[in-house]
Amino acid sequence: MISFNESQALELFRASGAYLDGHFLLTSGRHSSAYVEKFQVLQYPEHCARLCAAIADAFRDLKPDVVVGPAVGGIVLAYETARALGVRGIFLEREEGKLALRRGFEIGPTEKVLIVEDVVTTGTSVFEVLDALKREKHEGRILGVGYLVDRSGGDVDFGVGRQVPVMRLDLPTWDPASCPLCKESKPLTKRGSRKVPGA
Ligand SMILES: [Zn+2]
Repeated sequence: MISFNESQALELFRASGAYLDGHFLLTSGRHSSAYVEKFQVLQYPEHCARLCAAIADAFRDLKPDVVVGPAVGGIVLAYETARALGVRGIFLEREEGKLALRRGFEIGPTEKVLIVEDVVTTGTSVFEVLDALKREKHEGRILGVGYLVDRSGGDVDFGVGRQVPVMRLDLPTWDPASCPLCKESKPLTKRGSRKVPGA
């Protein structure tokens, strides 16, 4: 039934300009030959729908009651995955630096929760979502985490239920001193800068 594989997902990312080849300076300070700009693919509703349908398909048998994601990427993903499942889609956003449910969003004590995310490298945002759901006693029953891209090399374990990426990307990164692209004098592009509020 699932007619969507990892190479098709990667093709959507490439065709929409969300997967870029080049020479990039990452926020970590390391260099990479590729960069993922997720909103380049999410700006196309039909691509977003296909990707989120793949997440929905991976969790439909567990019958989620609500899909939740961290703002900003998670807003779109939670909405679209929820639409595919016919359930509610809500999101967490920052309040005094911490992710929290706002806007009257609630998760009932018996509701089954599917967490969605875009790109997982270290998984920080998802771990923050898990903390927030526990802190606010809205943790309900967490079925697992569905996400678009696994850049962790499979190293991240959220420790809750099922963990399903739509695709895995093993992108090489290098310390600048040993970067082969620097040795070729290929121009360096700065990507992935995180804007600090108020900065
Ligand atoms: Zn380099």
